[in-house]
Amino acid sequence: MPVDFTLTPEQAAAREAMRDFAITHLSKVEAAIAPFATPEERVRAIKPFFREMVRAGFMKSIIPVEDGGTYQGLLDMVISGEEASIGDVNVTCALFSCALALSPIITHGTREQRAQFLAPFLVDDGAPLAALAFSEVGGTANFDDPDPNAGSQTFAYRDGDEWVISGEKFFITNGWGWDGEGADLFVVSARTDPSVPAAQSLAVFAVPRPTQGLSFGKGLDTMGHRATPSPRIRFDEVRVPLANMIGKPGDGVQILSQTFAASGVGVAAEAVCVMRQAFEAALAFSKSDRRNGSVPIIEHQNVGYMLADMKMRLEAARYLTWKAAHYFDTTNGEGTELAVMAKVYCSEQAVQVVYDAMRLVGIESYADEMPFARLLKDAMAFPLYDGGNMGIRRRVLHKALASANYDHLAACEGRAPSKY
Ligand SMILES: Cc1cc2nc3c(=O)[nH]c(=O)nc-3n(C[C@H](O)[C@H](O)[C@H](O)COP(=O)(O)OP(=O)(O)OC[C@H]3O[C@@H](n4cnc5c(N)ncnc54)[C@H](O)[C@@H]3O)c2cc1C
Repeated sequence: MPVDFTLTPEQAAAREAMRDFAITHLSKVEAAIAPFATPEERVRAIKPFFREMVRAGFMKSIIPVEDGGTYQGLLDMVISGEEASIGDVNVTCALFSCALALSPIITHGTREQRAQFLAPFLVDDGAPLAALAFSEVGGTANFDDPDPNAGSQTFAYRDGDEWVISGEKFFITNGWGWDGEGADLFVVSARTDPSVPAAQSLAVFAVPRPTQGLSFGKGLDTMGHRATPSPRIRFDEVRVPLANMIGKPGDGVQILSQTFAASGVGVAAEAVCVMRQAFEAALAFSKSDRRNGSVPIIEHQNVGYMLADMKMRLEAARYLTWKAAHYFDTTNGEGTELAVMAKVYCSEQAVQVVYDAMRLVGIESYADEMPFARLLKDAMAFPLYDGGNMGIRRRVLHKALASANYDHLAACEGRAPSKY
């Protein structure tokens, strides 16, 4: 079969629908959250936009067809996902964080677990939130440390027919809920035995609301993602039935690795969207503004060369994202190398492209009337979150490269990789 990047009519229509939605609704978010001083107030202000997203069918689009949703695969998702951050990242971050949280249930849940925990999200109205509670206050990168005294410090012990979870998490998108009472569903990582490392003890639990034992610290204010709440959350003897464990103890590392591979491709698509907005604004400025010279600044060679470099990086990032998603889909989620690479590459290129756009436009770019300050602040999260590029993502790639089984052509040739 030839390599063909032509979109199917369905993919093109889905991309158009997401673009229309973003232009019509999400472009108004910045003004809607601007008056508010606290993250909590800004989160409340995006609820109507999130609800519109649910009404437009985007919540169902993160749940597979066989579970009652409309999700057809990661490739379809990222093709339209590239449109989802036009004008705002917060509402999309809330939706993608639902996808992040539901992913362990979708990929590793039993039929009963999928039916039970996905049902509240198979809706055409409302604003249900799911939150993946993985990151920990003391550090996250070493969650899978082989020393049982290190690693994830959230623990779950068995008491009769329940798991009892305790620990402190932070930066949990959607964790605060809309009202400070928590998400409708938490998906929590915790070790079931402090005497053995994560490889044997890390597990994933579904924790639906209402939940006794949850408490919230003050929401952290952040540089960008201004309406994406990042509260500290204490789980203090939170109890769930035994049946709420997804997989078994020790499966957590693999479940989370697959979850973050898929989410990494989503971040890559968002990063492409940010690059695109920076490029478009820089191109428009350079064609229309002379800076009191005699010709539009695009006539200057340095400006033209910089625009060409930005566009090259943008195009390369987009097709790496598509290929990463395609490889993930066609290997049933086992081919994750390109997903991790897309996350790292696109997130770092997004920061660079916005910075280059600012250098090109010059001092005008520094004012809030132009989109660059917002884009840069939001883009700065891409390399840091969803598994930081330095502490987590490059470490995954390093481990694969160092493995005796590493096959550097597997991803290119579409073969599932050997186990590292
Ligand atoms: C907007 C936003 C939304 C988020 N949403 C969520 C969410 O929904 N759920 C969630 O669980 N988390 C969420 N996070 C947190 C995010 O996923 C972080 O990526 C995660 O906490 C890991 O952080 P880190 O990589 O900086 O790790 P840390 O453990 O804090 O490490 C910090 C640094 O230490 C160094 N380092 C540490 N250990 C090593 C090592 N072994 N090798 C090499 N270098 C090392 C690296 O330089 C690394 O960058 C969110 C964050 C933001 C900003």
